[in-house]
Amino acid sequence: MNKWCITITLLLSLLFTFPIDLLAQGKSRYVTLKYSDKSVLRQFNSQLILSRNLRYYLKKKEITTIEDEVLAKLDILIEKAEVVLDMFPSNLHITVVLLESRKDVSTVYTQRYGKKADHIAYYSLTEDTIYISVADTKLRVIAHEIGHAIVDHYFKVRPPYNIHELMAQFTEKHITD
Ligand SMILES: [Zn+2]
Repeated sequence: MNKWCITITLLLSLLFTFPIDLLAQGKSRYVTLKYSDKSVLRQFNSQLILSRNLRYYLKKKEITTIEDEVLAKLDILIEKAEVVLDMFPSNLHITVVLLESRKDVSTVYTQRYGKKADHIAYYSLTEDTIYISVADTKLRVIAHEIGHAIVDHYFKVRPPYNIHELMAQFTEKHITD
């Protein structure tokens, strides 16, 4: 292989191995948000519709950009989910990665775990990260994953899988209360 060929191969392998690290990002109190471009961010924002009670908190936040709005919504949801679960882990900070479709979520999952899965979203315990397909985003979907994140940060000893799942479902169910 000549020099160029090696350089291009290296660049390509970087692109395909670490697509997430190349994303734009913003930060709030609880969340580091990563996304590939503005259209993904816009779609996520328009599909993440807060319930009436929660929208009330949004009005109090200082919002100038779409990114501000998304981060504000996620912070509100995390605080609400903590109330729902009655768990308030200290120093909670997670990463939320917005992906275009469930196919992208599957690709990332397969890259990380070497097995196939068909998720519209998942929370990675090892990476402290929620991966979510914006095409399938709904309040309940993100609330469920936030539930997993809070439970994970709250317990020193990780609860059994079924209990973890049960608490995430509980969060999802009561997020609009
Ligand atoms: Zn779950």
